[in-house]
Amino acid sequence: MPLPAADALRHPSRLAALRATGLLDAPPQDALDRLTRLASRLIGVPIALASLVDADQHVFASEFGLGEPLRSTRRMPLSHSFCQHVVARRNALVIEDAHTHPLVFDNLAIPDLGVIAYAGMPLTSEDGEVLGSFCAVDTAPRKWTQDQLDTLEDLAHAASAEIQLRAASRLLSQRQTFLADLLDHTSELVCATDERGYIAYSNDAMLATSGYDADELAQMRFVDLVAADSRTGFMAAAQRARSGEAIPDLATIMMTKAAQRLYVRGRGSPVFNDAGAVTGVRVIFRDLTREREVQRLKDELIALVSHELRTPVGAIRGALKILGPHVKHLEGKPRQLFDMAARNADRLLTLLNNLLDIERLESGTATLVRAPVSAIVLLEQVREVIQPLADAAKITIVIEADDVHAEADAGRLQQVLVNLVGNALKFSPSGSTVTLTAHAATLGDARAGVCFSVDDKGRGIPADKHQRVFERFEQVTATDASEKGGAGLGLAISKAIVEQHGGRIWVESVVGEGSSFRFTVPVAAALQP
Ligand code: ADP
Repeated sequence: MPLPAADALRHPSRLAALRATGLLDAPPQDALDRLTRLASRLIGVPIALASLVDADQHVFASEFGLGEPLRSTRRMPLSHSFCQHVVARRNALVIEDAHTHPLVFDNLAIPDLGVIAYAGMPLTSEDGEVLGSFCAVDTAPRKWTQDQLDTLEDLAHAASAEIQLRAASRLLSQRQTFLADLLDHTSELVCATDERGYIAYSNDAMLATSGYDADELAQMRFVDLVAADSRTGFMAAAQRARSGEAIPDLATIMMTKAAQRLYVRGRGSPVFNDAGAVTGVRVIFRDLTREREVQRLKDELIALVSHELRTPVGAIRGALKILGPHVKHLEGKPRQLFDMAARNADRLLTLLNNLLDIERLESGTATLVRAPVSAIVLLEQVREVIQPLADAAKITIVIEADDVHAEADAGRLQQVLVNLVGNALKFSPSGSTVTLTAHAATLGDARAGVCFSVDDKGRGIPADKHQRVFERFEQVTATDASEKGGAGLGLAISKAIVEQHGGRIWVESVVGEGSSFRFTVPVAAALQP
């Protein structure tokens, strides 16, 4: 027998919705059984069914009044199904006498099951797929009254709601299982605290890394895991999270049960209840202790090599400088070679000096000479240094500075600003403007500070590089070094200088619109308003 509108029955999204109910292989559902029983009683029929129509069979999610073997097998071939027509039509089907009805006169349910009169209403999924039919069946011809059909429709709606609820809660629990699985197999350390800061949840990685078991952690506040010398910073961040702020970059030192110091970095976010109140904080950390160690060894190696190379490279450059006036007569290829050697010796020496500079700054052996520095005077000095470059690039420099003073090493601040403005010029179109500003601000720990900003209208920096550009040798595009010059050290040096001052440096940028490099340093104490 050809299947009616087989395409409608086999439609993938309909079959997916059907699977999602979880009812194709489920035991009888009490809630649905109550509805079929009610249908039989209210409408006065011997049989009432909640049927699901699969691609190649008819499944009884609930039945009332069927005999064996269907009561036990709870499924039958489509050759016996009236309900498939409700699905194919996506509409109710009402039959007074099956013998004379063009859709079903040859259906095997007539001789085999005695189905003669049929009224079926669609059972639908949440997004409107017709999953099957909620139907009343009689074994003799009958006229269905409007009241009976209305009752059947109401019950079909109730049955649909029941099925949808089940599908939704199945989906939810599948997602929960998936998430729980993910949380327990990720290497990220995940913790959630309650409103008092006590640890309410920790994933497997957190247990394994901290060395504490779940019961022990439940007795602790997260801050108890933070090394004593990192607590102030951590508590400030936790306080911000508790007041509803997300902390996208949170780094701290975590102590394990075995008293090992771990460098962890990640983010913290507030957890809200339905009323919008913060009920705790969630942190997701990555243990970067090993990476840090590798980085430290790399830094040591670079520092060592730089130290060792600086003297011989300095000697070569000095020799080339002395030789310069004596080889004025050189021409052609020899001239090119000499100039190339001089240029490269210069570059190499600058690179080595920068590397040694970073190392001294980061290890704290470069001492800062701090004194009150006028922001206006400083920015004017920077403009003077950079003006020839700006003129060459046809870029206007604008200064908008408040009368504020930083407590800082003037030479080092100038180095940072020249770096930032130099970059702004490198990456801006000619005819555009670079703006330097300075105004009063607060530092991360709420002390008063001065915020400097260098804004350009250049190509901008993609969001995923906003942190990385401050690392050594990081450039946004591989060709920046060759096309724009520089080795990717300028921002790393700037960061080291700003952090030595107790400040913070960051970039805000939109690709194609421009970049604002900003940094803060402490305000000069005596000159605080
Ligand atoms: P370099 O000395 O190579 O310029 P930096 O550390 O100063 O190195 O900068 C690193 C990279 O950051 C640059 O190569 C560039 O890709 C990007 N960058 C820095 N400043 C800007 C800016 N104002 N606009 C666009 N990209 C920038």
